[in-house]
Amino acid sequence: MTRRLEGRRLLFATHNAGKLEEMRQLLEPRGIEIVSSAELGLAEPAETEDTFVGNARIKAHSAASATGLPALADDSGLCVDVLGGAPGVYTADWAEVDGARDFAVAMARTRKALAAAGAAAPWVARFQCVLVLAWPDGHDEVFKGSVVGELVWPIRGADGHGYDPMFVPEARGLTFAEMSPEEKNKISHRARALEMLLARCFT
Ligand code: IMP
Repeated sequence: MTRRLEGRRLLFATHNAGKLEEMRQLLEPRGIEIVSSAELGLAEPAETEDTFVGNARIKAHSAASATGLPALADDSGLCVDVLGGAPGVYTADWAEVDGARDFAVAMARTRKALAAAGAAAPWVARFQCVLVLAWPDGHDEVFKGSVVGELVWPIRGADGHGYDPMFVPEARGLTFAEMSPEEKNKISHRARALEMLLARCFT
């Protein structure tokens, strides 16, 4: 049976400011307040698994055992069909430049990989999100969401985070970075996974 969470406060195991902001926008209207592991000064564990579920479990269990509180983690990424699902679990790694992350570089790398593969548009891709809610006793619940779309080049839009300026969801014409947060949050991979988590784990 799915375990439910008591209360309206939640620890979110992330050091990613874009994900934190988005999760706050999704949860605050429902009266759920979140604090992040970065805000609590917790260490960021190494993501050593090769699946979204594996890495989300590492993050959620690490925060739950460090604090003794239930913790939510998100592992997500962009999977491009013609690149065999890359960058996938390595989506954040494609942004690494001298120990920091630069998503303009990551998107240019993705465009380069498409050219190297000789792939003509449309470039079908999907964002995937796995949410894990973990308890300090080792129990967890896992939820998945995805959104399919196409990559565009040049990138468009100034809102959002990560690869948002390169992704047009569901033939809507606008990239995630051209949409308002409210529009993105109606259809995003993260919102879809969260919808199921809220229905199953919150009273
Ligand atoms: P990770 O889950 O920490 O491995 O990082 C996932 C990476 O995927 C993020 O750093 C973003 O670059 C990218 N990503 C995940 N979700 C989104 C999204 O909603 N918009 C844009 N990029 C995303």
